[in-house]
This record gives sequence, C-alpha cells and structure tokens, in this order.
Amino acid sequence: PPHPEKLLTIDAVSKDFRGLRALDGVSLHVEAGEIRGIVGPNGSGKTTLFNVISGFYRATAGDVSFAGAGITTARTYRLSLAGMARTFQNLRLFGQLTVRENILVALDRTHTHAMWQYAVWQPGVIRHERQLRERAGEILDRYGLADFADAAPTSLPYGIQRRIEIARAMAAGPRLLLLDEPAAGLNGEEVQQLIRIVRSIRDSGTTVVLIEHNMGLVMSLCEKVTVLSSGKVIAEGTPSEVVASPEVIEAYLGD
Ligand code: ADP
Repeated sequence: PPHPEKLLTIDAVSKDFRGLRALDGVSLHVEAGEIRGIVGPNGSGKTTLFNVISGFYRATAGDVSFAGAGITTARTYRLSLAGMARTFQNLRLFGQLTVRENILVALDRTHTHAMWQYAVWQPGVIRHERQLRERAGEILDRYGLADFADAAPTSLPYGIQRRIEIARAMAAGPRLLLLDEPAAGLNGEEVQQLIRIVRSIRDSGTTVVLIEHNMGLVMSLCEKVTVLSSGKVIAEGTPSEVVASPEVIEAYLGD
C-alpha cells in the first residue's frame, strides 16, 4: 500500500531486459522536501530506475507510487500532469525554437491541460497568451536566462543549455523533479551555479531526485544518497556514511 507521507515510494521493483535484470528488487522512499542522490557504477541501473519512475519503462515486478497514488503502470503524460518532471542525460531541447519558445511550449502544455481538466476557460485566448508570456518571462529571469531569451539553444554554451532544460522542466510547476546527471559536462563554476539552482528549487517546494557521477556535487547537495550496484540498493544514508561503506567501496573498485 502507498505510504501517504512519502512523495515517492518504490517497492521491490525489478526490470528485466531479455534475460538481463537491470533492477533487482529495488525499494526506496523519498520524502517531500528531500534532495536525494542516486549513485552507483556504470550499468548499475540508475537510468533504468528513472525510466521506470517516470513511466518510460514499465517495471517487470514491484510497485511505484507517487503522492499517495499507485503509478506502476501510468504513462509519462499522466505523470507529468500529476506533478512529475524530468531531464535527460542527453539534452532534449527544441533546436528550431528560441529559449523563450522552449519555455512557452512547456508552459502551454500544462496550462492547456489544466484548462480542459478543470474547465476554467480564460475570457479569450489573447489573455491566456499574455499570461503565458508573463510566466515565461518570470521563469527566464529566475533561471538567469533572460539575456538569452531570443537565442537558439544550440548556439549557447553547454552549461546554459543544461540550465534551459531544468527551467523547462520546472515550467510545469512539478512536485518532483528528476535530474539525470545534471552536472555532466559542466565546469566548476557551472557546477556551483547548479548547486544554487537545485537548492532554490527545493526551497520553493519541489522535491528533487538526481542521478550524479560528480561526488563533490552529491556531497554538497544531497542529505541522503541511495547507492545502486548491479540493479540492487547496496547502501543508503548521508553522503559521508555511504562513501565509508565497505559494500560501496567494493562496488566502485570494479568500475
Ligand atoms: P546506469 O544508468 O547506472 O549506468 P542503466 O540503467 O543505463 O545503468 O543500465 C543498467 C543495465 O541495463 C545495463 O546493463 C544496461 O545495458 C541495461 N539496459 C538499460 N536500458 C536497456 C534497454 N533499453 N535494453 C536493454 N538493456 C538495457
């Protein structure tokens, strides 16, 4: 049964790919307000776990629940309406659109669905459009993207493209944000910026779960870390607890 006090509950989840068990009885619970780190050697199942949580893959066994509701078989589309957003290891921005338009597309999707769902039609499409533009402007300001609003994302430095991805995921106003290796390819200054951004996201009420290889980032950002190895949870605790765990040290020696 779902734990109502937990935002995300993963209960004995396994995922098989033709004979390969990528996840093997994984259980973990994330409370609202956490910044949770998921770490582990390459091939340990981190991305598969994100894909199961966010509905891209269906678990072979086990249950997932989000905000007190079972979501084991829910599709990505339903999950984003329910308040889950994610970013990907490889950027997935719309290259033909400007930065502002990338944010507008994300906003329009959520607002349009909200209008259908709750039948709160605004008096006129023009007002709706103006509100979307205002909201997009707020998001661009908040993530330090206002100067790049009219640029094509692909013309911008990689670190800024990563920030656009986070801003776009946050446009939906999610309760849970899943970040897949947000520091990959970032320089030291950009990593510091990312740390500030993730903290401010959490402080504004969105729970964050992130997969990360950069242990420095995990150590300074996450209160609690879950370590996967060969599809199993081998340790969980504060960053300093898990790096001292013999199971974790052994798992990383083979990496
Ligand atoms: P990590 O993110 O920790 O590097 P992954 O979740 O990507 O690990 O992969 C875990 C295991 O599952 C690996 O052995 C990988 O090859 C396998 N795997 C992941 N996705 C698929 C897939 N779509 N089809 C087949 N095997 C996959």
